[in-house]
Amino acid sequence: MKIPLFNIRAQYEDARHEIDGAIKKVVREHDFVLGSEVRGLEDEIAAYCGARFAVGVASGTDALILSLMALGIKEGDEVITTPFTFFATAESVSLVGAKPVFVDIDPKTYNINPSLIEGKITSRTRAIIPVHLYGQCADMDGIMAIAKQRGLKVIEDNAQALGARYKEKMSGSIGHAAALSFFPSKNLGAFGDAGMITTNDGCIAERIKILRVHGSSVRYVHSEIGTNSRLDNIQAAVLRVKLKCFNRWLKARVKNAEYYDRKLRDLPVECPYVPPCNTHTYHLYVLRMRSGTAVNIIDFLNKNGVESRPYYPIPLHLQECYKDLGYKKGDLPEAEKASVETFAIPMHPKLTMAQKDYVVKTIRRFFER
Ligand SMILES: *Cc1c(COP(=O)(O)O)cnc(C)c1O
Repeated sequence: MKIPLFNIRAQYEDARHEIDGAIKKVVREHDFVLGSEVRGLEDEIAAYCGARFAVGVASGTDALILSLMALGIKEGDEVITTPFTFFATAESVSLVGAKPVFVDIDPKTYNINPSLIEGKITSRTRAIIPVHLYGQCADMDGIMAIAKQRGLKVIEDNAQALGARYKEKMSGSIGHAAALSFFPSKNLGAFGDAGMITTNDGCIAERIKILRVHGSSVRYVHSEIGTNSRLDNIQAAVLRVKLKCFNRWLKARVKNAEYYDRKLRDLPVECPYVPPCNTHTYHLYVLRMRSGTAVNIIDFLNKNGVESRPYYPIPLHLQECYKDLGYKKGDLPEAEKASVETFAIPMHPKLTMAQKDYVVKTIRRFFER
C-alpha cells in the first residue's frame, strides 16, 4: 500500500461535473480576471468566516504582503511572528521592508506563545502575525489584548485554518486582517495559485482592492504603488463549487483525526492537542515523539508506503537568508525542539478505513521493533 499525505484530486472527484461546468461558463463568457465569480467568492468567503469583507488576490503570500501594505507596515518597522511556520509568513514581512521578530511557540499547540510577545515589543513594533498552524487558531484573546494595549495591528495567517473556530468566532474574523491561501494542497484548493484577505475594516478592504491593481482605482491614475495581484475568475469559479462541499470535507478530516487519536494514544507519541476553545480543521495531522527525534520513524514510514514529513524541519530564525537577524541555535528552544520531534501523517477527507488502519499499523510496527 502507498498512502500519500494529501489527495488533491479527491476534491475534484467529489464535484467533477459542477466544476467542469463552472470552468466552461467562465470560458464561454471570456471574463478571466477578477469578474463576477471573484465577487461571488469574496461574498461567500466573507460570510463563511463571519468577516464583513473579503478581497481576492493571486496567492496566500500576496494576501499577507497586501495586508501588511494596507496597514502601512514599511521599512524600519518590526513585525512579531512565529518561527515555526511556512516561510511565506516571514518572507512577506521582509518583502515590505520590515523586520520579522520571532517569538517562540507553545509546545502543545505549536502556535505563537502570547506570554513571550511582550518581551519582544520595541518602539518599532507595528504588528503581530499569528499563524493558525496545522488548522487551529493561535491564542487570539491573549494576542488581541497585547495588540490593543500596545497599539499594534494583528494579521492572522489563516492559510491553513479556513473554517477553524476560536470560542464563538471563526478564524479570519478576529484580527485586523487575515490571509487565506487556496494553494491546491490547502483544505480548500484552487487549480493553481489563489488567495484572499478577510477583514472587518472597510478601509483596509478598499485599500487592498486598489493595491491589487497597481494602486489604481481609476484607470491609468495611480494613487500609490501597488502590484498585480488579481484573482482569476476561473479559480474563483472552481473554489465556489468546492466551498459547497467544504464543511462535509472538514467533518471527514475531524473523523479521521479522532480515529488516529483513539488508535495511537497508547503509543509514545503526542497526538494533536486541541484546547477546548478551539476546533481543529486538520490541514495537517502532526504527531510528536515523546522522546528523541522523529528522523527514524519518518524514514520507517516512508519505506513502508506511508508518506511522512516534518512540518517544518528548519525554524525560520535559523534559515540562511535570516543570518543577518543574528539569531543562533538555542534562542527559540521550543520551535527548535518541535522541528526535530514532529512528523505529519496522511490526512485528507477521502482516507479509507483500510488506509487509516495501515497507517496506524505501520506506526505501531515501528514501536514494536
Ligand atoms: C501555504 C501557506 C502560505 C502561503 O500561501 P501561498 O498561497 O502558497 O502563497 C502562507 N502561510 C502559511 C502558514 C501557509 O501554509
